[in-house]
Amino acid sequence: MIDPVTASAAPTGAPAATGTPPAGDPIVGIWEAHFREPAASVANARAVLDDAASDDRMRAWAELTIGWHQLYFTADPAAAGATLPLALERFVRVGERRGELLARIGLARHKLVQQQPGVARTELLAFYDEAMATLTPQDRFWAINALGATYYYEDRIDETIRLMHLALETLRAIDVSPHLPTAMSNLAATLVTVGDYAPARELAQDALGMLPRYNNPQLWLFVRSNLAEAQLGTGDAEGALATVDAMLGGPGETPRSAAQAHYLAVTAEVLAMHGRLADAENRANEAASVFANFPGGHNEVHATWSAAAIANARDDPDAAVAALARAVDAAERAHHVPTLCKAHAAAAKRFASLGRFEEAYRHQLRLNEVTQERLASRASAKYYLLKAEHELKHARDARDRAERERQESLAMNRQLERLNRELERKVREVEELQGRLAAEAVHDPLTQLFNRRYLDSVLPALLSGANRRNAPISIALLDLDHFKEVNDRHGHLAGDRVLMQIGRVFATSLRPADVLCRYGGEEFCVVLPDTDGGGARTALATLAARLKELVVPWSGETLSGFTFSAGIAVAPEDGTTQAELVSAADRVLYRAKAQGRERVVLARDESRSA
Ligand code: GH3
Ligand code: MG
Ligand code: MG
Repeated sequence: MIDPVTASAAPTGAPAATGTPPAGDPIVGIWEAHFREPAASVANARAVLDDAASDDRMRAWAELTIGWHQLYFTADPAAAGATLPLALERFVRVGERRGELLARIGLARHKLVQQQPGVARTELLAFYDEAMATLTPQDRFWAINALGATYYYEDRIDETIRLMHLALETLRAIDVSPHLPTAMSNLAATLVTVGDYAPARELAQDALGMLPRYNNPQLWLFVRSNLAEAQLGTGDAEGALATVDAMLGGPGETPRSAAQAHYLAVTAEVLAMHGRLADAENRANEAASVFANFPGGHNEVHATWSAAAIANARDDPDAAVAALARAVDAAERAHHVPTLCKAHAAAAKRFASLGRFEEAYRHQLRLNEVTQERLASRASAKYYLLKAEHELKHARDARDRAERERQESLAMNRQLERLNRELERKVREVEELQGRLAAEAVHDPLTQLFNRRYLDSVLPALLSGANRRNAPISIALLDLDHFKEVNDRHGHLAGDRVLMQIGRVFATSLRPADVLCRYGGEEFCVVLPDTDGGGARTALATLAARLKELVVPWSGETLSGFTFSAGIAVAPEDGTTQAELVSAADRVLYRAKAQGRERVVLARDESRSA
């Protein structure tokens, strides 16, 4: 669930925003305290509205506070559609631009509540640049967060993750405030959507650790429900139980009136899983009544899934099948990926246990499709994730893992035609087998480097990512010089051994973000993201130097003195598609050979001399 709830503490050392009133302004203070202490803040705001002496400006801030409260902390977020326009109008009248922008951000959120993410985005983008340039980090956070949510509701998860990271970066500059656990929890929810449970769990856990500072019970619900979901995903059923028990059984009057019933659904699911069916039933009933009060958001998905999780835990196959069908149907209509996966998996299992293999097969097939979609989003989301965290050293591993999983599930789909009978047992067999095949499918057996097929599968995403970010990206083709002589003098086995060693030298001399593959016999291709021609030339000079140092012992002798020739093409100047860039690089590689080998030629050098 991506339901951003947060607080606004007065920033220390933050840049002053346009129209920011003097620090300590009590009226603005009501708004700023809201997400730290929502109940007290809203009471203050209502008192301002009730006081006949309150002027326009005071009323504007009070209405803003109440509008946001309606959006995030009540079961009737649509009510903000009446409150926020009043605040907006007053802010415009008194010329308080900061309040005006915050009201506009709230109104865009209201469009999301009405399931119009495209409209919400258009509205946000109309003032987004101004908001980024003039608002404080906390206020900016709201704009970024809302923009991320518009992508989330359109299944554009990589964009969502990019913006969630931007939100985190934005908050890093300021003192701790409830914005931070909110941003972390939202990022965790997004990672759950792409099935990346382990980091989601870590983030949610960290966010939870920050919450005791604030009196914001709703935020506890949001963070804990994301944590429980991530724990379920990592197979930690006991941890999930502890989390949901703490969530609804804790002390204090926990408000159960959030617009999103996600916390109830995950609670019902976990309780049912542990055989606490009566407790689970109560939560599912609450989820159903939240849905009845507010049919927006993903409430239908949450209500039907909690009912299905309980029916599935009982001993009545017909009821389970019917409830699962309703959950599948709701999740399909909302395209709610995490629930789609859980519901189709449960339905496939249920049908298989009833011997209804054709239906089991259909659910399994659909599960595979959705899983694949999820993994594809994860692969590209991962790019932003790692980029933003500056953890490039893990980038390759993570990207490879996502790609391998995608390949596994692709291969599994092809096999499924034959799996109609004995579905479950066979799926397990195939999973094991495909694990090995998929790893082999993208690797070259001799050097263990990636092969050309892998390059073909990742290059389009790397190119479009670079294009979207307006960043250069270089592609280099390398061909070893006079390699035939190694074979001729020492035999083909010696040649193989040298190729292996060279592969290792190249692989350990590049940055983690670079993609290296064996392109052909003694040819290699290197993709260098965020690198222009000069940078690529430097990287290849390093490779050439390391290669020069390589000494390969072979039956009493030592083989050395290896060199390569290379051609480099850079996007966008030398082309924008894979075909254009590879052919430009190939053309100048040929030229490097013709000019005497052991050299690197850039496509732009060629066009200059042409
Ligand atoms: P240059 O590229 O500098 O023009 O000379 P070259 O000798 O490298 O050129 P050519 O393309 O004519 O030959 C490439 C040779 O690389 C052919 C083959 O003997 C060798 N080769 C390619 N793949 C393998 C392999 O997997 N194992 C071994 N041992 N040799 C290989
Ligand atoms: Mg060759
Ligand atoms: Mg060669």
